[in-house]
Amino acid sequence: YGDPSQKIDYVFKVVLIGDSAVGKSQILARFARNEFSLDSKATIGVEFQTRTLVIEHKSVKAQIWDTAGQERYRAVTSAYYRGAVGAMLVYDITKHQTFDHIPRWLEELRGHADKNIVIILIGNKSDLENQRAVPTEDAKEFAQKEGLFFLETSALEATNVETAFLTVLTEIFSIVN
Ligand code: GDP
Ligand code: MG
Repeated sequence: YGDPSQKIDYVFKVVLIGDSAVGKSQILARFARNEFSLDSKATIGVEFQTRTLVIEHKSVKAQIWDTAGQERYRAVTSAYYRGAVGAMLVYDITKHQTFDHIPRWLEELRGHADKNIVIILIGNKSDLENQRAVPTEDAKEFAQKEGLFFLETSALEATNVETAFLTVLTEIFSIVN
């Protein structure tokens, strides 16, 4: 999880967006601290967490921003998106409504963020396959149409969380290099 004394070559700001309770904070906890909590309360306080990793021999500090519960009040401000070079658009595979809201989030994101922002669509809670409400194919098709990366993750089981972040960070890295 990174040697704090190492020199940083890049800082990439990545924002997490999506409806409340889809698992954004747990995805971040898994990535930044390798932790997971089943009874996570609506996030308060912490604006972002960081983790430094190495991509092609350069140290990249990923600064991941979490909405801190603002999604409930549609109060995600432009300051949240400012300077973001990556975005993770998260829905819950067991709650179709959270997938139905993705176009709205995408519109908001495209309205606020840089045109070249790298976006990944994430269907979280893939461990709850028996409660699945959103077919993988539907999400894949949407992502393809909109030019987004796409992965299903489980913050609980730590499935694809690392891959999702690496996909975004590696793509950003290749754009700036
Ligand atoms: P947020 O509002 O989007 O930040 O969602 P949270 O990260 O707070 O998660 C909401 C609830 O879903 C919590 O009870 C989490 O423990 C649970 N949760 C998050 N990710 C997963 C997952 O991958 N699988 C399962 N089964 N539950 C999850
Ligand atoms: Mg949260």
